[in-house]
Amino acid sequence: MKAIRVHEFGGPEVLKLEEVPTPKPSAGEVLVRIHAAGVNPYDTYMRAGTYALRPTLPYTPGSDGAGTVEAVGEGVKKVRRGDRVYTGRTLSGAYAEYALALEEQVHPLPANIDFKQGAGIWVPYGTAYHALHHSANAHASETVLVHGASGGVGIAALQIARAVGLKVLGTAGTPRGLELARREGAHQVFDHRKPGYQEEILQTTGNRGVDIILEMLANVNLSHDTKLLPNNGRVIVIGSRGEVTINPRELMGRRASIRAFTLWGITPSEEADIHAGIFAGLENGTLRPIVGKELPLAEAARAHKEILEPGSAGKIVLIC
Ligand code: NAP
Repeated sequence: MKAIRVHEFGGPEVLKLEEVPTPKPSAGEVLVRIHAAGVNPYDTYMRAGTYALRPTLPYTPGSDGAGTVEAVGEGVKKVRRGDRVYTGRTLSGAYAEYALALEEQVHPLPANIDFKQGAGIWVPYGTAYHALHHSANAHASETVLVHGASGGVGIAALQIARAVGLKVLGTAGTPRGLELARREGAHQVFDHRKPGYQEEILQTTGNRGVDIILEMLANVNLSHDTKLLPNNGRVIVIGSRGEVTINPRELMGRRASIRAFTLWGITPSEEADIHAGIFAGLENGTLRPIVGKELPLAEAARAHKEILEPGSAGKIVLIC
């Protein structure tokens, strides 16, 4: 089979398309014919060797794939050959024609969701679901600011928050991103490149502030976020690419909090909750993964460059 292999940590150029043996499923494992693989920012941190999780070299990147079950190992009951599935992590890597996964890492893909969309489920929707429901404990009567609403996690968060009933505000940095954020659930959108946009957000809420901020770039925004919160407001740090200084007094006066997590650290019961919620939302049409760009597997390096560039508009997926 064809697979992307990384033999050394480094820039996008270390992603090489190679011919490797197709794996065989052992007991409790599933072999999936991957039709599309989702590209996530953490794939690039991992490839660079700068992420908390450092895979053993050589490895194939990718946790998010979608396709059909090719074969199952002994004892697998959840899926059968031919079933349509998406993966939430794999054993052998999703940037490949076939990926091996544990039985608990494959999940049914509803008939109304195609494979490209299926490649954009686990990390984006899992993160957004966990941020809103588990970390922020969001309520329908609250207002959420999705700070970075045009990318994978942001669009998922808009759709989930809107379906639950929250008042939804979103930011993006381009006209295309702003339009997408509005279309996918934001009641109001703001340009995070425009000076003073935070003041506009505050004014929109009658100077009360937003109950929840889902923050995609904490190193840039966290200090100002603390000033946008009302009493009991909370910032959920989802993404950060550096250090930041904050004034804790902004939190103290508001009884506010900053919470953070990584998707890798959630509990099995939270994970089960997430997949159940995602499946229901995909099936009933409230959750609709948006594919912004499709690239062939051979162009994984280009995908890794582009995922870190501004101007997001949905997911980048590799066609395998
Ligand atoms: P993505 O698809 O590349 O989207 C990035 C988003 O950040 C876009 O909406 C982009 O908007 C926005 N952004 C750019 N500049 C910003 C600014 N100054 N203020 C606010 N937002 C800004 O990435 P993603 O998959 O959505 O992931 C978002 C972040 O969360 C990444 O850093 C990722 O590593 C992290 N993440 C963390 C977890 C976790 O477990 N904690 C899980 C998934 C993702 P424009 O392009 O329109 O400017």
